[in-house]
Amino acid sequence: MNLSLNYIISQIKAKVDIVTVIEESPLHLRKRGRNFIGLCPFHSEKTPSFSVNPQKNIFKCFGCGVSGDQINLYARLNHINNGQAISQLSKRVGLTGKKLNKKQRLEVIKWQEDKELEKKFTQKYNEMFYFLCELRDYMKERAGAYKTINHIEKDSLLMCYYHAKAIHEDLLNRLLAGLHDEIDFEQQIAYFYAAKGVVERWEKLLEKYPPNYSESTE
Ligand code: ZN
Repeated sequence: MNLSLNYIISQIKAKVDIVTVIEESPLHLRKRGRNFIGLCPFHSEKTPSFSVNPQKNIFKCFGCGVSGDQINLYARLNHINNGQAISQLSKRVGLTGKKLNKKQRLEVIKWQEDKELEKKFTQKYNEMFYFLCELRDYMKERAGAYKTINHIEKDSLLMCYYHAKAIHEDLLNRLLAGLHDEIDFEQQIAYFYAAKGVVERWEKLLEKYPPNYSESTE
């Protein structure tokens, strides 16, 4: 029987949930809201930043950044690679007792590469969120200082700031939902590009109103 890797993965995901993987491990997590939280097993810490979402079967550490699904967690906790994890878990759900064949192994490699790309994106996404927070504070300060020097004109930086502020805040909230895995990956990508657009808009404004070094920041 030559099952596709996607089918094997979908069967594992349907039959082995992340809570089972945790129960079999030495991890001690507490329920908080919809999620479970606890000390991260992958880096040393004193305050819990390891979070598991049982509905979505995903985990994420806000300290060291590791994240993934039940298969990745099983692999990490058992110190094996994703391919070995798939092979072991597929036996458990009654699929194959055999090792993965060559085609399936290649599929695992592709799958891991996709995961890597996703991980890199997630890192960029996080950075974008914090960059936007800083940019917001900077623009606020700049716009405030602008007010003390110039009377408010129709297109002053202050007016532009107040106009753009609502969009910026809304976007930050949406990005934050992504950081908490409350939205799906496709949406995260869309918000990331929206965020890039916002950054470009602010950059254009800064070009139009270059920093004036006599501005007081009070
Ligand atoms: Zn961690």
